[in-house]
Amino acid sequence: MPQVLHHFVDGERREGTSGRFGDVFNPATGELQAQVPFAAKAEVEQAIAAAAAAFPGWAATPTLVRARVLFKFKELMERHLNELIELVITEHGKVLEDARGELTRAMEVVEFACGIPHLLKGEFSENVGRSIDSWSVRQPVGVCAGITPFNFPAMVPAWMWPVAIACGNTFVLKPSEKDPSCSLRVAELLKEAGLPNGVFNVVNGDKEVVDTLLTDPRIGAISFVGSTPVARYVYTTGCANGKRVQALAGAKNHMIVMPDADMTQATDALMGAAYGSAGERCMAVSVAVAVDGAGDALMRHLVPRVQSLKVGPGLDPVSEMGPLITAEHRAKVSGYVDMGVTEGADLVVDGRELRLQGYENGFFLGGCLFDNVRPDMRIYQDEIFGPVLCVVRTPDFETALDLTNAHQFGNGAAVFTRDGDTAREFTNRVEAGMVGVNVAIPVPLAFHSFGGWKQSLFGDHHIHGPDGVHFYTRLKTTTARWPSGIRTGASFSMPTMG
Ligand code: NAD
Repeated sequence: MPQVLHHFVDGERREGTSGRFGDVFNPATGELQAQVPFAAKAEVEQAIAAAAAAFPGWAATPTLVRARVLFKFKELMERHLNELIELVITEHGKVLEDARGELTRAMEVVEFACGIPHLLKGEFSENVGRSIDSWSVRQPVGVCAGITPFNFPAMVPAWMWPVAIACGNTFVLKPSEKDPSCSLRVAELLKEAGLPNGVFNVVNGDKEVVDTLLTDPRIGAISFVGSTPVARYVYTTGCANGKRVQALAGAKNHMIVMPDADMTQATDALMGAAYGSAGERCMAVSVAVAVDGAGDALMRHLVPRVQSLKVGPGLDPVSEMGPLITAEHRAKVSGYVDMGVTEGADLVVDGRELRLQGYENGFFLGGCLFDNVRPDMRIYQDEIFGPVLCVVRTPDFETALDLTNAHQFGNGAAVFTRDGDTAREFTNRVEAGMVGVNVAIPVPLAFHSFGGWKQSLFGDHHIHGPDGVHFYTRLKTTTARWPSGIRTGASFSMPTMG
């Protein structure tokens, strides 16, 4: 019998009461391993009420005390690391070292948030007018909500909640219904670390939960990470309801390979960036733009590597690439490979027929590699979100850059070259939020901020780092004069501080 999961509200597990459930699979075996309750509106409202009730006390808690809860949580996270890694692997399918990397990245945001007393220091200007002082502080927004995708069940929620609660907010998280267990365990560990009840809540579900979060007047800020159509909906609906919203969305990251690039380095980088986590990363490289003579050299290096990719279950330490998240997603990605063949691209490595002995029911797809992909093809335009790399050939750097900039998405982009001029031109002119020079997955660390451009992000703020602190706080500027200061009598003009 599959395990029945729960919500986590006001410091305790809550059974689902709606009678609606979603299926959680083990993608490596195809087994249904859990059922996750889908909360009804009233259940979400209970979580929001708990967060709203906890807010005044938590906001008034000294920043140092808030930070100490996160220090303690980090210690617990380290102690339970293997358990969390296993939860990620069994519900998501990614391979062992990749899951460890995800947890490490999550932990780094917690470490960043531990420095919140420093990050929340305000600004003070003495004598902005005669005997008048002025200072600015950042105060928490209130109840914040996070809605997260399946592909990083530990890291993406951790882009949000550590910064939000360190800033003095309370939080309602709706994790992906496909792999919710890691978030539920995090909630328990936060309680064990001393977080007061109601500060961090987890509500599982689907659109009904999201719509309640987007419209409830008690929610002040929404952080969303997921696909572009849903991100656009979350952004417009949240904004129309008066909330601040950051909505990080889909991607089709380009990597330009110049003829002078170190081809071994470029190939290693492409293998990890295109096929790591089975291509289910928003920072995956799904388009390699080979300039001039780089095309033939790159294919010579790449083809045998894709052919010998070690595909297997995530818990097997030898596996380089695990399964896709669900049978439907596998069918969708495989359908895109069919489409690419129909569109006339050259399918040089075909992973569609891969079957793994002992894992016949798993959602595995072998690595797929297309050459001579053209910009008018759907396999070039759409985010496939699977282990499918498209190689496009261009005659020169300018054409490669124009191609990258004309794409609807602008999450990450990279160039591989030994030439400083080319690298500088690229970093200066490329239209993407995260840029790599001989680095294929330029994911900013926790003390920088993460986010894309164009259809890859809706809103004004990137996530975590300094932008995260700004997103989860409101600026307040006070101007003060004491009675002993200079008195000027009533003035009916716009005050100027001379
Ligand atoms: P998704 O958009 O299907 O789901 C994301 C969240 O939205 C989930 O919690 C889901 O339950 C909810 N949701 C789904 N449909 C909804 C609807 N109609 N109304 C309201 N809520 C809805 O995304 P996914 O498949 O879980 O994740 C993959 C996507 O996330 C990819 O497009 C990937 O590029 C993107 N992603 C982006 C980033 C980034 O930083 N830009 C990071 C990770 C993932």
